[in-house]
This record gives sequence, structure tokens and C-alpha cells, in this order.
Amino acid sequence: MSDTPEADFKIELRSDVTVELVKHTASDADVLFAARVSTVGEQSLDELKKDPERSKGLINYLMRDRHGSPFEHNSMTFLISAPIFVFREFMRHRVGWSYNEESGRYRELQPVFYVPDASRKLVQEGRPGKYRFVEGTEAQRELTARAMADSYEQAYGTYREMLAAGVAREVARAVLPVGLYSSMYATCNARSLMHFIGLRTQHELAKVPSFPQREIEMVGEKMEAAWAGLMPLTHAAFNANGRVAP
Ligand SMILES: Cc1cc2nc3c(=O)[nH]c(=O)nc-3n(C[C@H](O)[C@H](O)[C@H](O)COP(=O)(O)OP(=O)(O)OC[C@H]3O[C@@H](n4cnc5c(N)ncnc54)[C@H](O)[C@@H]3O)c2cc1C
Repeated sequence: MSDTPEADFKIELRSDVTVELVKHTASDADVLFAARVSTVGEQSLDELKKDPERSKGLINYLMRDRHGSPFEHNSMTFLISAPIFVFREFMRHRVGWSYNEESGRYRELQPVFYVPDASRKLVQEGRPGKYRFVEGTEAQRELTARAMADSYEQAYGTYREMLAAGVAREVARAVLPVGLYSSMYATCNARSLMHFIGLRTQHELAKVPSFPQREIEMVGEKMEAAWAGLMPLTHAAFNANGRVAP
């Protein structure tokens, strides 16, 4: 019989990220409305919808010539659940973003951790700045899954032990790894989102290629899909002009 007490927690392993558009005021008409004030003054939203071809042309012109400010008069709030290492990269995006993240000081962090699934390439080949990722062997995949699960189990057990001994949550959390899931609200506008997507996704239409970490790219892809549904003309113009934020 083992002397080790049964763990009073169960580790949950996830490989996904979730992105929910929780609120928005964002449409292509918001871009037109802002842009046309400079030439025709105030216009109603109904009037803006009268000539769709002209609207498409104007949005494309603004994107092509990098007149960025008309793309700022809109707002999207996303609820994102992803590992802490993704948020660490995400929060480098300072301009046109507001963040609120769950607290490790005010609540006990839950044992939900990241493991790569079979689609995640594990091995980097080549030198910095000129590299590619390849699948990796079965042994590397097995080691990664086992090492992560063991390490998460041990770290979370230590966290719980410290809490049970009366150590404050804000101190005990230091033992938890960056594979722990967190959640945050992130609010942005189309211009700041385009800048984020341009850097954090890889796309054949990008005229300036970027090489983001796959896990933040998964978040970027879901945000882009939600945004494309709200602002289809702006999204099409972004793609047509090389996916560079105006
Ligand atoms: C593939 C990739 C690899 C990366 N690797 C690393 C890394 O190894 N180490 C690391 O530290 N970071 C790394 N980063 C983060 C990167 O350096 C940027 O911090 C991040 O992409 C945010 O970009 P940004 O500053 O343009 O965005 P934002 O902060 O949102 O800024 C938007 C724009 O506003 C302007 N701006 C904002 N702040 C200033 C300022 N203070 N002065 C002047 N202009 C400003 C710039 O035009 C900027 O592009 C990496 C990013 C990517 C995409």
C-alpha cells in the first residue's frame, strides 16, 4: 500500500484555444462613415449603403494608401481562453488593445494545461530567422506528452500543497508553468486587429511574411474569422492589399 495520499484534483489537458466574440459595434459602414466626413460631411448609415460598389472602392483605396484612422471607429470584445505563454505574446500588442485577465491573486487557478495535439509540428530545423517546423518522431511525441503531463501534475500538486498550508495564492502561483490556461477579455478595433493578424498568422496573400508561434496563430485565425463576418469588405481589402494593417 502506498503512503502517498490520493490527489484531490484532476489535471485537464487541452490542445485547443477558444475565442468568443462577446460584443461588437463593427461594420464596413463604420469605415465609410468615418472616411466620408472628410469629403461630404455627416451622412446617415442608410445613405452609406446606397452605392455598394463605391463603398467597396473607397475601403480598398483607404487600405491600399494606408489611411488607417477610419478603421478605428468600431469595437470588438473577445473572450479568449489559451495557455499563459500565448497571452504573454498577445499582450505585446499595446496600441488599440484593452485587456482584462483572470486573476491568480483573487482566485484559485484551475488545473487546466496545454499539450500539443497530433497536428502540432514538434521539431524546429534550421537557424534563427530561417527555419521550418517538421512533425517529429513518435518517440518525441510520446516524450512531450508524458513530460508535460508529469510536470503539470507535480507543479499543480505543489501549488495545492502550498495553498493548504496557508500560503497566499499570489505566492503559490509561482510554481505553475506557462502551459496553464488563462482567460481574458481583449477589446480592439479593426485597425489594431489587422496589425495583430498580419503579425500573428501566416497566409499566402501576406506580402510581408511572418512566422508566428502556432498556438497564438490559432487564436488569430479564430479572431479573423469572427471579424471577417462583421466587416467583409474591410477583410477583403486587407487580403487584397497584402494583409498589412493600414
Ligand atoms: C514572429 C514574431 C516573433 C517575435 N519575437 C520576439 C522576441 O523574440 N522577443 C521580443 O521581445 N518580442 C518578440 N516579438 C514581439 C514583437 O517585437 C512586438 O512586440 C509585437 O509583435 C507587437 O508588435 P507592435 O509593437 O508592432 O504592436 P503594438 O504594440 O500594438 O504597436 C502597434 C504599432 O504602434 C507603433 N508603436 C507602438 N509603440 C511604439 C513605441 N513605443 N514607439 C514607436 N512606435 C510605437 C508601431 O508602429 C507599432 O507597430 C515577436 C513578434 C512576432 C510576430
